Amino acid sequence: MKRREEMNFWEQLYLPEVVRGLAVTSFHLWRNLALHTAHVVGLAKDRPASATVQYPEQRKTYPEGYRGSHRLTLKPDESVRCTACMLCATACPAQCIYIEAGEHPDPHVEKYPVRYEIDTLQCIYCGLCVEACPCDAIRMDTYVHPRIWGFDRKDFIEDKDVLMHRSRVLAEKGREGNMEEMLAWYDEQNRRVYDPTRPEFRTYTERDKPQPWAEEQGEPELAAIDRHHMLDGGE
Ligand code: SF4
Ligand code: SF4
Repeated sequence: MKRREEMNFWEQLYLPEVVRGLAVTSFHLWRNLALHTAHVVGLAKDRPASATVQYPEQRKTYPEGYRGSHRLTLKPDESVRCTACMLCATACPAQCIYIEAGEHPDPHVEKYPVRYEIDTLQCIYCGLCVEACPCDAIRMDTYVHPRIWGFDRKDFIEDKDVLMHRSRVLAEKGREGNMEEMLAWYDEQNRRVYDPTRPEFRTYTERDKPQPWAEEQGEPELAAIDRHHMLDGGE
């Protein structure tokens, strides 16, 4: 950006620059409109026009190295592979992984995560949690695009069920199936939120998750949110 003393007389007037900017924008608008119209009737096919990807209806092909949303991998019996060792939460630079460990009913397994939550609003998708895990219990190979909208902070908390479910869908339907299911799930949430006959369904957690652990322990719902709030210096 130029400083004021570097601007010439016409640039300091601003108005000519505004008109010039509008001219550039208008040029591209009309050029693209003309080219897209010509393409529809089979003309000027060799001249590309700018196109915006209409996400989520259209999706780009992600490269192989793409870091999608997380998933918790499963054992052959479909139970969670995670042993609640906390290494991922320790390695996470954004401190957005919340784990509560519990004693496993199987005496051969020491611990398992009673709760495992990732606050995707804080996650920076660095992949350090995946690298830190000693037992390949967490991966980011889902090709699921991180959630980009919500009605509440809670909408962006991905819990153990969600993270495990992705592994099941990936095994059954592949990467595309996982993304399709996620979009359908978003649509369903959207529909429910706007359903005036179901006012009780306000957020992801309140809609779909009864959170029985919270009732049992007498804790407020989603203690992870409170934890992050405290880390941020809130009350
Ligand atoms: S990808 Fe990075 S920021 Fe996100 S949960 Fe893993 S370690 Fe934390
Ligand atoms: S995901 Fe891996 S690193 Fe994280 S708690 Fe579970 S076993 Fe440990």
